Order: sequence, then C-alpha cells, then structure tokens
Amino acid sequence: MRIPVVAANWKMHGSVESIQAFLESLVDRFPSGESQVVVCPPFPLLPAAVLVASGSRVAIGAQNCHWENKGAFTGEVAPPLLRELGVAWVIVGHSERRQLFGERDETALKRAHAAQAAGLQVIFCVGETLEQRERDETLAVLERQTQGWQDLKPGLLTVAYEPVWAIGTGRTASPAQAQEAHAFLRRRLGEVMGPAAAGLRLLYGGSVKPDNAAELLGQLDVDGALVGGASLDVDSFSAIIRGAGGPG
Ligand code: PEP
Repeated sequence: MRIPVVAANWKMHGSVESIQAFLESLVDRFPSGESQVVVCPPFPLLPAAVLVASGSRVAIGAQNCHWENKGAFTGEVAPPLLRELGVAWVIVGHSERRQLFGERDETALKRAHAAQAAGLQVIFCVGETLEQRERDETLAVLERQTQGWQDLKPGLLTVAYEPVWAIGTGRTASPAQAQEAHAFLRRRLGEVMGPAAAGLRLLYGGSVKPDNAAELLGQLDVDGALVGGASLDVDSFSAIIRGAGGPG
C-alpha cells in the first residue's frame, strides 16, 4: 500500500505572515489522515514553517539543495543545514530549475544523492517539454532523466512526473496521459532500482486543481500530486488533499 503524498511547491511566493497563516489553517484542518502532506516554501520561510508545522502531520520541504555539504558555493544551501532546521523533504530537478538555471540530469542526481545522505526525502522531478511530447519522445526523455538512479535510496525517494507543458499553464495531462507516463516510470524504475520501485510514490504535477485532482490521483500509478499555483490558497490545497483519497 503506497501512502499518497500531496506536496505544495510555493516557488518564489509567500511571506513569513502568509506561510504561518497557511500552515496554522492546514494543520487545523488535517489533524490526522491517510495522506502525507508536504509544504515547500522559499528558503527564508523554512524556520517559520517548521515551527508552525512541528508535531503535526504536515512536513516541511525545501525547493532545492546543493550537492556539497559546505564550501565556496555562494547562494547555495547544504542538505545538512536543511536537516538542522527541521526540514524533512526537498524537491530536486524541478523543470523551472532545468529550464531557467541550467539544471542538468547529472546535477539533479548529485543533489538527490547529497540530500538522501543527509536523511532528506527527495521529490525528484522529471518530465518532457511540449516539443518533446509532440515529437513522441516522452518515454525516451523519462528514460534519460532516470539514468544512473540505481544508487538512490528508494526509502527516501518520491518521483514527480511533471510534463513541462502542464506546469503553470492551466493545461493538464489527461488522466490517461498521466497514467501512461507513471506506468512507464514504475516499470523503468523497476529495471533500474529493482523490486523496491513497486513501493515508490509517483506524484503527478502540472496544473493540478481541486476539480481535476480526484480523477488524476485516482489513476493506478498516480500516488499523489506536486502542486504549484493551487497550493498557495489553503482552501484549494485542502480540496486537493481531500481528492487524494481517504479521510484527508
Ligand atoms: C510545480 O511547480 O511543480 C507545478 C506543478 O506547478 P503548477 O501546479 O502551478 O502547474
């Protein structure tokens, strides 16, 4: 049984006041339940977020981390420092970092290894661009993006399939498109990582909203969602958590 994960990616939004209010409300609404809830605000908001979420079922995640634990890397953040702050999760390989900040498959993988070595749960993002989908390269891209994953720890890995053309565009993959990619990823990760891949949570991300969450998350190999825009509002994020199934 794979416990669903619903994760909020706040990107470069929010303030100390707004993350506190959001989390107070979220913690209140979901004192218990069947899915794992993760909220990933910008770095400076992490201490305030950890404080409010402490002792609740809501875990706090960062949106990136470096692959070294210390050194001359101005502007970067080390995984052990995130752990020291009480952060439990981290997103790596997000398409915005791949497209805007030069993230490559190799650097994303290095970040994931360092994060896991520090004990962080990694949400590793993969997904094709619109051009790649139109050229029928989706599965080949997913295969390439998961190369070298054999040494990742399955117990500290969650994968987010995020078709780039669906992120922040209001355009969502159909449930069938999502299931096809997720089933492929599960098979592929089975080849790369062995039987533990059957227990990996595979999240869908890309314009998930309260009105499409239940259908997307109802697909056989979709074990939750990574939510951007719709996670900024506590009502819509809560509705998506409910859509993930079970009583919350
Ligand atoms: C994301 O940033 O990971 C994302 C899926 O964004 P959105 O839900 O806004 O498409």
